[in-house]
Amino acid sequence: MTHLLDVRNLVVDYVLADRRVRALDGASLTMAEGESVALVGESGSGKSTLGSAAGRLLPPSADLRSGDVAVLGESLTGLSNARIRQVRRERLGFVFQDPIGALDPTMRIGRQMRLAGGDRESLERVRLGDPERVMRAFPHQLSGGMAQRVGIAMALSARPRLLVADEPTAALDSQVRQDVLDTVFALAAEAGTGILLLTHDLSAVSRRCSRMAVMYGGRVVEDGPTAAVLGAPLHPYTAALARSVPGNTVRGERLEAIPGRPPVLTAESAGCAFAARCAFAEDRCRSERPVPTQVDGRTVLCHRVAEGVS
Ligand code: ATP
Ligand code: MG
Repeated sequence: MTHLLDVRNLVVDYVLADRRVRALDGASLTMAEGESVALVGESGSGKSTLGSAAGRLLPPSADLRSGDVAVLGESLTGLSNARIRQVRRERLGFVFQDPIGALDPTMRIGRQMRLAGGDRESLERVRLGDPERVMRAFPHQLSGGMAQRVGIAMALSARPRLLVADEPTAALDSQVRQDVLDTVFALAAEAGTGILLLTHDLSAVSRRCSRMAVMYGGRVVEDGPTAAVLGAPLHPYTAALARSVPGNTVRGERLEAIPGRPPVLTAESAGCAFAARCAFAEDRCRSERPVPTQVDGRTVLCHRVAEGVS
């Protein structure tokens, strides 16, 4: 079966003046057509890097060391610039955290909308009241919620197969946030568009995405049905994550920090990235990398889980 998205063992560094930061350290994720997958994990775990790589949109400072990304069976790595632009236009849509910043401040919304292949109707579909007025407005004349609806209308206007939404509602108030997410998921479902939702908001995830992938230290450490992952986590990091949300798993607005600091990865990092914060860590967790293990319909990267200890 051809996957909508197939990210395989992706290794990406950011090259800074004096050092390299490893952002992805062998990240793998696949999505089926029309599937909604949430990608969660604390700040710096690599969510945005993976999301950008899905459209070959990494910044120039990023160095893709190894691994591959394919969209509908077509590897993005060797594509010409013309072809990658076509793939982005025809198959992919992106929505980012800063809705106003994502728009061109000098151009009226109507013109930007048409350039993206959308029209007045696209604005109606995202439930923007008074689309005529919005078409005539400049981005700074819109509220954050309205601007994000415009961004979503643009991203969906070409009916992409995959929408990558990177914290699309983080800048919005909580009520607007729910409405905007509902709109995105309803429109995507109607069009058969798969959504990769990068977020800290576990409550948004649990209601809307059937599958959840948890990132830690540049790898996907647990991946499976959302209810199972949140309700009976297998990876110690997922368990800490689920516990750190008040009222158990799903009510919290944001994921709370868990004790210890996130890892700073380099090319030399060995073992499991979570070992330094893991209550169960043994010697080999510090020296040997866990490999993906299939358990209960889930993929987990943990020596302990691989051994069947729970
Ligand atoms: P957040 O939840 O804060 O958005 P994230 O999970 O999206 O975090 P990334 O933004 O992908 O994480 O970052 C992964 C790692 O790469 C982090 O260590 C981060 O500091 C680093 N990084 C990200 N973008 C850049 C960049 N443009 N230049 C240098 N380092 C970067
Ligand atoms: Mg991010």
